[in-house]
Parts: sequence; C-alpha cells; structure tokens
Amino acid sequence: MTCAEATPLVELELDGELDARSVLELREYVSRCPSCTRHAASLRALSDAAREHLRRFEPPAGFEDRLLRSVRPRRISRAWTGTAIAAAAAAADGSVARAMTLLDEDALTIREQALEVLARLPAVDPADLHALGDALAGTDPQPLAAFLDTVNAWLSQRLERGRGDLARLDRLAEASEHINAAARDAETYNLERKPLIFNVFGLLAEATRG
Ligand SMILES: [Zn+2]
Repeated sequence: MTCAEATPLVELELDGELDARSVLELREYVSRCPSCTRHAASLRALSDAAREHLRRFEPPAGFEDRLLRSVRPRRISRAWTGTAIAAAAAAADGSVARAMTLLDEDALTIREQALEVLARLPAVDPADLHALGDALAGTDPQPLAAFLDTVNAWLSQRLERGRGDLARLDRLAEASEHINAAARDAETYNLERKPLIFNVFGLLAEATRG
C-alpha cells in the first residue's frame, strides 16, 4: 500500500464503509506511516468536532413555560392518538411543551411550509421567506419552536447522510450553531422574526451550496 492509496481509504473507514479485511490492512499500513497516522488523526478530530458543534436550540430561561402556557388544546386535532403524541414527545426530545407544539395544527402548517422551503435549498425564493416570516410574526413562542424543531430535524438528517463529505459536514454544523444562536437571541430579546428567517435561510443556502 502507498500513501496515495491509503488516503481515500482512511475516509471510508471513518464512514464505516470499509470491509473488515481492508480495515485491518489499512490500519497495519497507517500504523507504520507517520504521515498517514497524522492524516487519520486530523480527519477523526474534524469529524468529532463537527458533530459536537451540532447543538440543538437551547431555549432561554422561561421559554418552555411560556410555550406550555400558550398551548391552546382546542387547536389540537382530536384525531391525534396516543402513538402520535408519543412520537411527538420523542421528536421533541421528551419535552411535553414541545410535543404539544408539534401537535398544534397551526404549528403543523408552519412545519409543512418550512419543509417546502428547505427542500428547495440551496435555491431560496424571497417570496417564500416573506410568507414564512408572516406566519411566524408576533411573540407567540409556538410558531418559532415549530420552525426551529423542523430546521433542526432537517439539519440532523443532512448531517447523518452527509458523513462522507467532511467539508460539507463542517459547514452544516457551523450553520446549525449560528442558526440556533440567532434563534435564541430572537427569543431572548423579542426580535422581529422575519429577519431571523432570512438569516436562517441565508446560512442554510451557503452551507448547502457546492
Ligand atoms: Zn502513508
């Protein structure tokens, strides 16, 4: 084996896409080559760092309480079963307040609207962002929470699928960090939500391009 042969294999191994026999051969070679050892270590560090940067929106103090208080049970469809509620609670990281948000019919509309815009990335139509911004306008915590849950779930999925491309993984993780920091600021300081939407999709378009 040569360094040129080993280099792409190191990435495949990191992705778990190398068969056991090739893994053994690769490790044997890498352990004897200082340059490949360094390459493997830096790739692993980059991959770990990208994963660590993927943090979900951490709401400011009092956000969950406001969310729970703002839940209007009458708006939650009677069609929801225990299974749907359990699935929503799981999707909301076990938070009941966020689960209720996921089941709210208006929140579902926002979720669908956001998913449509996300599906078109890296293309972004300002008219879509205005529409989404209008749907999120005001200070009601529910629409914002529904929007952020949707974006974060979409980002997690992208990060899972994009494992082979470390540069892209890194860009997505960085975008995720900026998006959640911006959302936290918007909630803490009660900022206009339309600029937040434009900011979020600007970051996502940049991260998904190329
Ligand atoms: Zn080497």
